[in-house]
Amino acid sequence: MDQIRIVNLEVFSHHGVFKEENVLGQKFLVSVTLYADLSAASGTDDLAKSVNYGEVCHFIKSEMEKYTFKLIEALTEHLARKILVNFPIIEKIQLEVKKPWAPILLPLETVSVAMEREWHLVYLSLGSNIGDKENNLNSAIELIKADDMCRVTKVSPFIITAPVGGVEQDDFLNGALELKTIRTPAELLVFIQTIENKLKRVRTVHWGPRTIDLDMLYYDNEVIRTDTLTIPHPEIKNREFVLKPMCEIAPNLVHPIYGKTVYQLYQDFLTE
Ligand code: ATP
Ligand code: CA
Ligand code: CA
Repeated sequence: MDQIRIVNLEVFSHHGVFKEENVLGQKFLVSVTLYADLSAASGTDDLAKSVNYGEVCHFIKSEMEKYTFKLIEALTEHLARKILVNFPIIEKIQLEVKKPWAPILLPLETVSVAMEREWHLVYLSLGSNIGDKENNLNSAIELIKADDMCRVTKVSPFIITAPVGGVEQDDFLNGALELKTIRTPAELLVFIQTIENKLKRVRTVHWGPRTIDLDMLYYDNEVIRTDTLTIPHPEIKNREFVLKPMCEIAPNLVHPIYGKTVYQLYQDFLTE
């Protein structure tokens, strides 16, 4: 991917663990590599189609002056995320913050923290079978859209499905959506659970009725298994209410374990 590089931008600011650092301040050096598709800008010679690196530099300076972090780890994370959110054309960023005057009472050239952050491609499934189901799904989507660390890129049509799992309950309305996020998988799980809580999901019977259920289906090509998160969602291949809406928005998406597209998984489901 094309890159724009900024090397050793000098910013005087007040980050540090020690009080003196917060009072006196010191010089920091920031280096950034911005990854973006610059072909539209290079083909038209139009700055509006690129990233204005001057703006990025001033943005970094103002963020570093606006906040005071104890750790350059926190500062680096903050800058990486803020730049990705505020300059939409940037898909990935590598950022290094150097502290040449780190107060450790020993001579050193510089100490630095470097991070790489990017927009990740995620698919969620949505379901509701209590109250105004369509409104519940749309409210969840609006809450996701309102988050600056998520960008909803596709929403499937909603489908009515019969409940599975043996609990006597009303039909579901289901859908799927595609989003880009700079949240980690664990952060995104907490985020979708916050939305479920906001929409007053009451947890009673497992697989029972709910105003809203948001499940993470895929997160890039990641395979994750922790106590609280399994990615890809283990039930994808067994659920028409997931496969059908997913076929509408990502039929060619390949499952990182089975090596099959969403379309193939749906065909397998239908012929089983
Ligand atoms: P199912 O996951 O079979 O659809 P469910 O959606 O009814 O069941 P919940 O009660 O909503 O289950 O969630 C139970 C737990 O599942 C959550 O607290 C969460 O930690 C965990 N979980 C594991 N993997 C995922 C995932 N990919 N998406 C959402 N939750 C997950
Ligand atoms: Ca579920
Ligand atoms: Ca769930």
